[in-house]
Amino acid sequence: MDHPRAGVHYPRSVGELQAWFRVDADCLDYLEWLRWPAGFVCPDCGHPGGWRLGDGRFECAGCGHRTSVTAGTIFDRTRTPLTVWFTASWLFASDKGGISALSVQRALEIGSYQTAWTMLHRLRSVLVRPGRERLTGTVEVDETFIGGEEPGLRGGRARGKKVLTCIAVETREPKGLGRCRMAPLPDASAKSLHAFVTDHVEPGSTVITDAWQGYRGIDKLGYVHDRRSQRAARAHGQDPGELLPAVHRVASLIKRWLLGTHQGSTDVAHLPAYMNEFVFRFNRRRSHSRGMVFYRVLELAVDHGPVRYRDLIVNKQPGKTPPAPPSGRGKPPSLERPPANRPWRTDQRSSG
Ligand SMILES: [Zn+2]
Repeated sequence: MDHPRAGVHYPRSVGELQAWFRVDADCLDYLEWLRWPAGFVCPDCGHPGGWRLGDGRFECAGCGHRTSVTAGTIFDRTRTPLTVWFTASWLFASDKGGISALSVQRALEIGSYQTAWTMLHRLRSVLVRPGRERLTGTVEVDETFIGGEEPGLRGGRARGKKVLTCIAVETREPKGLGRCRMAPLPDASAKSLHAFVTDHVEPGSTVITDAWQGYRGIDKLGYVHDRRSQRAARAHGQDPGELLPAVHRVASLIKRWLLGTHQGSTDVAHLPAYMNEFVFRFNRRRSHSRGMVFYRVLELAVDHGPVRYRDLIVNKQPGKTPPAPPSGRGKPPSLERPPANRPWRTDQRSSG
């Protein structure tokens, strides 16, 4: 939907979230509406129209294929109740700084850290839209090491926990930042840098870089290349460290975010997922409605193939695994709760 409306198509507040999605069936209906706003369309043959079966699945009127709303999405075969998923998605989307797996686990009383960690990684996995637009206008491009605190060496290999990352940021006149993109790079060679620029910046844009030789030749790829050298900056009395202020601002923001929200516990294998989350958030930082961000996340989620825990495991374990909780509940408790009957009124100690 191009222009979803607050209070109609997405909840405006956590109160509205709770009122709308009281039980898993409410969540399932919302996902169905998001996935098939004009009614069921067969994911197998593309035929529009079918029947709802007794078990809630759909049968295609064209090919007879049977499927569920969540089949083929990140919610496929999840054992986590959808009410828990929705609240986790809200926390993930509504906080400007995002949320850590540990915080989600605590807030939603999820028995295992691994479950909370997997939910967040599934949500992260949907944040890159295939075919999304490239950056335009004036764009600063530079590389930096992310995942460690020491300054990296140009052209060197990522050592230990650091990953060589290329960052592109649109700059606005007279000042201010537009959208950004970032991605890990195998090295700082011309081949890698040229590939990054063509993937993330629209031809015709002005690309500002420093004088590193790896950027040479991007003018031949259809860009206006504005090369800034430290020596020239010094000669003009400018601070050579501020050649590319937009990229450096974004680089320091993601580094601070990784150390703050995630306590530096992100491992190298999953850094690209965290970069995607950072970029998604950064590019929506001016969105006035956090509910709208929640809507966009779920919209992408139902449009996306399933991601399972084993697919997320590149290194066997999530970064920093806290000790196992005392009771190893396998399945997170649903947020569908019976009325609590005002326990503060029935506490024997205070009523006496
Ligand atoms: Zn079909």
